[in-house]
Amino acid sequence: MGKLIADEARMFYVTGLQNAHAMETQAIQLLTRQVERLENYPELEARMREHLEESKSQRARLEEVLHGLEENYSALKEAALGIGGNFAALAHVAASDEILKNTLANYMFEHFEIAAYKSLIAMSEHLGDAAGAAAAEISLREEERMAAWIDERIGSTTLTFLQRVEAGETADH
Ligand code: MG
Ligand code: FE
Repeated sequence: MGKLIADEARMFYVTGLQNAHAMETQAIQLLTRQVERLENYPELEARMREHLEESKSQRARLEEVLHGLEENYSALKEAALGIGGNFAALAHVAASDEILKNTLANYMFEHFEIAAYKSLIAMSEHLGDAAGAAAAEISLREEERMAAWIDERIGSTTLTFLQRVEAGETADH
Protein backbone atom coordinates (compact mmCIF):
# COMPACT_ATOMS: atom_id res chain seq x y z
CA MET A 1 0.00 0.00 0.00
CA GLY A 2 1.45 3.39 -1.00
CA LYS A 3 1.82 6.04 1.68
CA LEU A 4 -0.72 8.33 0.03
CA ILE A 5 -3.35 5.58 0.06
CA ALA A 6 -2.58 4.77 3.69
CA ASP A 7 -2.96 8.44 4.64
CA GLU A 8 -6.26 8.66 2.82
CA ALA A 9 -7.60 5.54 4.53
CA ARG A 10 -6.52 6.97 7.88
CA MET A 11 -8.32 10.21 7.02
CA PHE A 12 -11.57 8.31 6.48
CA TYR A 13 -11.05 6.58 9.83
CA VAL A 14 -10.62 9.94 11.57
CA THR A 15 -13.71 11.24 9.77
CA GLY A 16 -15.59 8.18 10.98
CA LEU A 17 -14.51 8.86 14.56
CA GLN A 18 -15.54 12.51 14.26
CA ASN A 19 -18.91 11.55 12.79
CA ALA A 20 -19.44 9.10 15.67
CA HIS A 21 -18.56 11.90 18.09
CA ALA A 22 -21.22 14.12 16.51
CA MET A 23 -23.65 11.18 16.60
CA GLU A 24 -23.10 10.80 20.35
CA THR A 25 -23.61 14.54 20.85
CA GLN A 26 -26.93 14.12 19.03
CA ALA A 27 -27.75 11.08 21.19
CA ILE A 28 -27.03 13.06 24.36
CA GLN A 29 -29.29 15.89 23.18
CA LEU A 30 -32.13 13.54 22.20
CA LEU A 31 -31.96 11.61 25.47
CA THR A 32 -31.68 14.76 27.59
CA ARG A 33 -34.82 16.15 25.97
CA GLN A 34 -36.76 12.90 26.28
CA VAL A 35 -35.98 11.98 29.90
CA GLU A 36 -37.58 15.23 31.07
CA ARG A 37 -40.90 14.13 29.56
CA LEU A 38 -41.17 10.50 30.63
CA GLU A 39 -42.80 10.89 34.04
CA ASN A 40 -45.61 8.56 32.93
CA TYR A 41 -43.13 5.90 31.79
CA PRO A 42 -40.79 5.45 34.78
CA GLU A 43 -39.09 2.29 33.51
CA LEU A 44 -38.25 3.98 30.20
CA GLU A 45 -37.07 7.07 32.04
CA ALA A 46 -34.70 5.11 34.27
CA ARG A 47 -33.16 3.14 31.39
CA MET A 48 -32.81 6.22 29.21
CA ARG A 49 -31.11 8.14 32.01
CA GLU A 50 -28.69 5.24 32.27
CA HIS A 51 -28.09 5.28 28.51
CA LEU A 52 -27.61 9.06 28.64
CA GLU A 53 -24.65 8.45 30.97
CA GLU A 54 -23.42 5.64 28.71
CA SER A 55 -23.61 8.00 25.73
CA LYS A 56 -21.48 10.58 27.55
CA SER A 57 -18.89 7.87 28.23
CA GLN A 58 -19.04 6.78 24.60
CA ARG A 59 -18.35 10.32 23.43
CA ALA A 60 -15.47 10.64 25.90
CA ARG A 61 -14.12 7.31 24.60
CA LEU A 62 -14.12 8.68 21.04
CA GLU A 63 -12.30 11.82 22.25
CA GLU A 64 -9.63 9.62 23.80
CA VAL A 65 -9.21 7.65 20.58
CA LEU A 66 -8.93 10.88 18.58
CA HIS A 67 -6.39 12.26 21.06
CA GLY A 68 -4.50 8.98 20.79
CA LEU A 69 -4.25 9.51 17.05
CA GLU A 70 -2.89 13.01 17.73
CA GLU A 71 -5.44 14.58 15.48
CA ASN A 72 -6.04 18.28 15.73
CA TYR A 73 -8.91 18.38 18.15
CA SER A 74 -10.26 21.65 16.77
CA ALA A 75 -11.33 19.62 13.74
CA LEU A 76 -14.31 18.44 15.77
CA LYS A 77 -16.87 20.73 14.25
CA GLU A 78 -20.19 19.09 14.92
CA ALA A 79 -22.24 21.48 12.81
CA ALA A 80 -20.20 20.76 9.70
CA LEU A 81 -20.77 17.02 9.89
CA GLY A 82 -24.41 17.00 8.94
CA ILE A 83 -25.56 14.58 11.59
CA GLY A 84 -27.97 17.13 13.01
CA GLY A 85 -29.69 17.25 9.65
CA ASN A 86 -29.93 13.47 9.52
CA PHE A 87 -31.74 13.30 12.80
CA ALA A 88 -33.55 16.61 13.01
CA ALA A 89 -36.82 14.73 12.52
CA LEU A 90 -36.26 12.80 15.72
CA ALA A 91 -37.47 15.62 17.95
CA HIS A 92 -41.11 14.66 18.35
CA VAL A 93 -41.79 16.78 21.36
CA ALA A 94 -45.07 18.41 20.33
CA ALA A 95 -46.95 15.35 19.08
CA SER A 96 -49.55 13.73 21.33
CA ASP A 97 -48.13 10.34 20.42
CA GLU A 98 -44.55 11.46 21.07
CA ILE A 99 -43.87 8.36 23.17
CA LEU A 100 -44.57 6.16 20.13
CA LYS A 101 -42.65 8.34 17.69
CA ASN A 102 -39.70 8.56 20.10
CA THR A 103 -39.69 4.80 20.70
CA LEU A 104 -39.47 4.11 16.97
CA ALA A 105 -36.90 6.87 16.45
CA ASN A 106 -34.80 5.65 19.39
CA TYR A 107 -34.82 2.12 17.98
CA MET A 108 -33.63 3.50 14.64
CA PHE A 109 -31.00 5.67 16.30
CA GLU A 110 -29.52 2.80 18.31
CA HIS A 111 -29.20 0.76 15.11
CA PHE A 112 -27.49 3.66 13.35
CA GLU A 113 -25.05 3.76 16.28
CA ILE A 114 -24.51 -0.01 16.05
CA ALA A 115 -23.66 0.35 12.35
CA ALA A 116 -21.31 3.27 13.08
CA TYR A 117 -19.35 1.32 15.70
CA LYS A 118 -19.17 -1.82 13.55
CA SER A 119 -17.72 0.29 10.75
CA LEU A 120 -15.22 1.93 13.15
CA ILE A 121 -14.17 -1.50 14.44
CA ALA A 122 -13.48 -2.69 10.89
CA MET A 123 -11.43 0.42 10.11
CA SER A 124 -9.54 0.50 13.39
CA GLU A 125 -8.59 -3.16 13.10
CA HIS A 126 -7.54 -2.75 9.46
CA LEU A 127 -5.43 0.31 10.29
CA GLY A 128 -3.89 -1.24 13.40
CA ASP A 129 -5.49 0.99 16.04
CA ALA A 130 -6.04 -1.61 18.74
CA ALA A 131 -7.07 0.94 21.37
CA GLY A 132 -9.64 2.41 18.98
CA ALA A 133 -11.04 -1.04 18.24
CA ALA A 134 -11.30 -1.88 21.94
CA ALA A 135 -13.08 1.41 22.68
CA ALA A 136 -15.55 0.91 19.83
CA GLU A 137 -16.26 -2.66 21.00
CA ILE A 138 -17.30 -1.41 24.45
CA SER A 139 -19.61 1.20 22.95
CA LEU A 140 -21.01 -1.31 20.43
CA ARG A 141 -22.04 -3.66 23.23
CA GLU A 142 -23.80 -0.80 25.04
CA GLU A 143 -25.68 0.19 21.88
CA GLU A 144 -26.68 -3.42 21.24
CA ARG A 145 -27.95 -3.77 24.82
CA MET A 146 -29.95 -0.56 24.48
CA ALA A 147 -31.39 -1.59 21.09
CA ALA A 148 -32.41 -4.99 22.50
CA TRP A 149 -33.96 -3.32 25.55
CA ILE A 150 -36.06 -1.02 23.35
CA ASP A 151 -36.93 -3.93 21.06
CA GLU A 152 -38.42 -5.85 23.99
CA ARG A 153 -40.57 -2.86 24.98
CA ILE A 154 -41.98 -1.55 21.71
CA GLY A 155 -45.19 -3.53 22.15
CA SER A 156 -45.67 -2.86 25.86
CA THR A 157 -44.87 0.86 25.53
CA THR A 158 -47.45 1.11 22.74
CA LEU A 159 -50.04 -0.62 24.90
CA THR A 160 -49.28 1.60 27.89
CA PHE A 161 -49.81 4.61 25.65
CA LEU A 162 -53.13 3.23 24.31
CA GLN A 163 -54.33 2.50 27.85
CA ARG A 164 -53.51 6.06 28.89
CA VAL A 165 -55.48 7.35 25.89
CA GLU A 166 -58.44 5.13 26.79
CA ALA A 167 -58.28 6.34 30.39
CA GLY A 168 -58.32 9.96 29.22
CA GLU A 169 -54.86 10.58 30.65
CA THR A 170 -53.28 12.08 27.54
CA ALA A 171 -55.59 15.08 27.06
CA ASP A 172 -52.90 17.50 28.21
CA HIS A 173 -50.61 16.47 25.37
MG1 MG B 1 -24.26 5.99 21.68
FE1 FE C 1 -27.03 4.66 21.98
